[in-house]
Amino acid sequence: MAGRKVFDCRDFPGPCSLVVVGTEEEAWEAQIAHTVAVHGQQDGPELRNLLRDYIRDEEEWLAAHGAPSKQEATR
Ligand SMILES: [Zn+2]
Repeated sequence: MAGRKVFDCRDFPGPCSLVVVGTEEEAWEAQIAHTVAVHGQQDGPELRNLLRDYIRDEEEWLAAHGAPSKQEATR
């Protein structure tokens, strides 16, 4: 559905492969919490500035990474 946002940790350096998908607010908060907890970053304006460059529309992300495992009606 339109409007969801994606953070893909594979875009970051490092071994993390987490993908966060949700509304912009959900994805944003989850990714900040995850980046602080797992990547050892410090929450603050710099981190939020950096992460803002990585938030993507779900459609754009799907186009770049292929369809997820959920079945689409036509294929
Ligand atoms: Zn990560």
